[in-house]
Amino acid sequence: MLNLVLFGPPGAGKGTQADFLIEKFKLIHLSTGDLLRNEIAAKTELGIEAKRLMDKGFLASDSIVISMIKSKLQENFDANGFIFDGFPRTVEQATALDHLLEEKGTPVSGMLCLCVEKEELINRILHRGKTSGRSDDHDVSIIENRIRIYNEKTKPLTEFYAAQNKFYKIDGMGSVEDIANRLIETISSL
Ligand code: AMP
Repeated sequence: MLNLVLFGPPGAGKGTQADFLIEKFKLIHLSTGDLLRNEIAAKTELGIEAKRLMDKGFLASDSIVISMIKSKLQENFDANGFIFDGFPRTVEQATALDHLLEEKGTPVSGMLCLCVEKEELINRILHRGKTSGRSDDHDVSIIENRIRIYNEKTKPLTEFYAAQNKFYKIDGMGSVEDIANRLIETISSL
């Protein structure tokens, strides 16, 4: 199985690139942001609680996102592999993912980290906000909070995966196609 962690700050292009990669490598796309937005749209109790945090740019609780991923892994037992997009975001989530995949007898193949400059991240998110309908894509102070939380809680995962020799840094600047080609080249070498 090919299990890819697509990593990077908000606005790095993870969702856009995941769309290419699922086609190319026939993988299942698991985005915890999308799963949480589905809960919000369905107005579940979990969704109402998650929206409160997401709207301010804070993370949802580890236990919620871990259990969502766990059930998706169980549902897709015959998959070719998975692209994890926006997950893991904390060391606790990364550790849980390792355990969940261990139970399936298949490890994380690689963590692909898209590097993009902060100014470009903010521009991309504001641009996306014009059509995304996402309440966390409009306000610069909320976007900056999301980037700050990424730097504090999520970025340390680069070391977590580097310690397992699974960290791959990808230049996330340039055209969507160029970035996709860089990702494909790295994934093909895994
Ligand atoms: P995303 O769609 O990945 O940009 O995520 C949007 C928002 O959903 C984040 O700012 C968090 O509030 C929440 N979220 C998504 N994935 C996670 C996760 N793995 N852990 C905690 N919160 C998450």
